[in-house]
Amino acid sequence: MTDAPFRFTLLHQDGHARRGEMTTPHGVVQTPAFMPVGTRGAVKAITHRDLEDMGAEIILGNTYHLYLKPGDDLIARAGGLHEFMGWNRPILTDSGGYQIFSLADRRRISDEGAEFRSHLDGSLHLLTPERATDIQAQLGSDIAMVLDECIATPSSLQDARPAMERSVRWAARARARWLQLRDAPASLPGVVVANPGQAQFGIIQGATHPDLRTESVQATVEIGFEAYAIGGLSVGEPAEIMYEVVAHTAPQLPHDRPRYLMGSGMPDDLIESVARGIDLFDCVLPTRNARNGQLLTRSGPLVIKNARYAEDPLPPDPGCGCYTCRHFSRAYLRHLYMAGEMTAATLNTVHNLYFYLDTMRRIREAIKFNTFETLRLEFRRTFSRRSQRL
Ligand SMILES: [Zn+2]
Repeated sequence: MTDAPFRFTLLHQDGHARRGEMTTPHGVVQTPAFMPVGTRGAVKAITHRDLEDMGAEIILGNTYHLYLKPGDDLIARAGGLHEFMGWNRPILTDSGGYQIFSLADRRRISDEGAEFRSHLDGSLHLLTPERATDIQAQLGSDIAMVLDECIATPSSLQDARPAMERSVRWAARARARWLQLRDAPASLPGVVVANPGQAQFGIIQGATHPDLRTESVQATVEIGFEAYAIGGLSVGEPAEIMYEVVAHTAPQLPHDRPRYLMGSGMPDDLIESVARGIDLFDCVLPTRNARNGQLLTRSGPLVIKNARYAEDPLPPDPGCGCYTCRHFSRAYLRHLYMAGEMTAATLNTVHNLYFYLDTMRRIREAIKFNTFETLRLEFRRTFSRRSQRL
């Protein structure tokens, strides 16, 4: 780990698509980048070695889950999340807000923060913007996110405005706390700063209302963060609406900072969002769908349990270079899945994440050579969200 402050270098632009390099205390991330989700300090079903082999440069950890179990105090005593989990590359942590808002009837939101009952034991907790900042300081992630208020979609202007305004107030409090931890950590003796080079990203809210998005950008950028994320999307709205909000919001964000679209999405979402100026992504889709037997390929999703694969000698995606595709047939993978073998989840996850990371590599190459639009059109022609009869 180095104390090198967070840095972003924009290397090249092809249309609105951007090729960049994000430097963190635990190394450099080539952007556009996809971050596999390691919810509780592990990307489900695979090892860190698998992630390193497939070239994952950064992963995401969920503050809500790590705070409840094993707890940020324990992780801080272990030297921070990197030390604790034995992962030496960059980590981004979310604020915990999204999970709390998903608890629906088990949470109460006020200006102070989000009060919630643990899904594990029903115990009562209060997550404030300050507390979310402290927990992430103790986890020692390379990038921390501010606590924001997520709302259901679709939401009216009357519902979306107060949530956006509260998110801005919370962002200001989170930034003040982060600055206090950076500049005067002794004034907060209960908090261990596990990674002094940690950056903090602000989050733009405003649902699908363009005016609210613009207001949120102005107010959040005025507070000032190392970079900015677009939140509150990929929550059930049609893809076209999401693309419109991204196209409206991304160009208003500072040109010299990375732009992170939270929680998105399908492979075509990644390409379409890069086309609108996004640099960072995370999503549980490739890992969760892998465990449910859905393999994502260049043509579209392949449902491995289908009887047609029972004696199919081909790999899941003949064009893929991952460990799974280089060694195993659809017939074998179907057998493992039907038999309930744990290895099914492992091999499917290896393929899906490799496919996502490889897609990002292809995107970065295309931007570099000014052929991104060709890649985008080819992807539109060959990829379908409908499950494939390969
Ligand atoms: Zn593969």
